[in-house]
Amino acid sequence: MKLLEEKILSDGIVLPGGVLKVDNFLNHQIDPVIVTEMGKEFYRLFGDKKVDKIVTVESSGIAIAFAAAQYFGVPVVFAKKGFHKNVGTDVYFAQYFSFTKGDSTEISISKRLLSEGEHILIIDDFLANGAAADALIQILQAAGAVLTGIGIAIEKGFQPGGASLRQRGVPVRSLAIIDTMTDASITFRDDVQ
Ligand code: 5GP
Repeated sequence: MKLLEEKILSDGIVLPGGVLKVDNFLNHQIDPVIVTEMGKEFYRLFGDKKVDKIVTVESSGIAIAFAAAQYFGVPVVFAKKGFHKNVGTDVYFAQYFSFTKGDSTEISISKRLLSEGEHILIIDDFLANGAAADALIQILQAAGAVLTGIGIAIEKGFQPGGASLRQRGVPVRSLAIIDTMTDASITFRDDVQ
């Protein structure tokens, strides 16, 4: 998605350790114009598939998942991070190693909000090693839900998550795939779509 690539080039900040900071349009401040366009693009990519619900992880996935959900006409469920008393014990739970935190992260989704046989589109802001996506897949499997596909805003193609998911036959579509990233330049994969 050209608009997203241009925004990454103009506003993205490359931090040491292979982390891209996009907090002035996606991760802290949210640009409604680009996020709405991203939602529309996810609908273009997955709109012909059966999608009953969109699932993401709080907090950065919520805005793009919500933008997409308006085109699909389905609800968004976001996995909560950490232990939440108000979620109770009736939850599907998974744990993964967070690339940005460098620590273990627990996520959970209430059992009331995922049903057996529901078709789920996962949407998230970044795909790096694929740990967050794997944890969400684990939760969907526990619920007996069906994974329609995974839509990612920014995939870091130099990390193994995308290749690993695709090798396992998971339909992954990313709006921008970064091939190389230094503080001086960012290059994108040409054949994203
Ligand atoms: P993974 O689990 O695929 O290694 O990492 C995905 C999660 O880590 C995303 O949900 C995102 O929150 C975070 N993440 C991974 N890489 C980056 C990055 O370069 N920049 C930012 N802002 N978040 C990242």
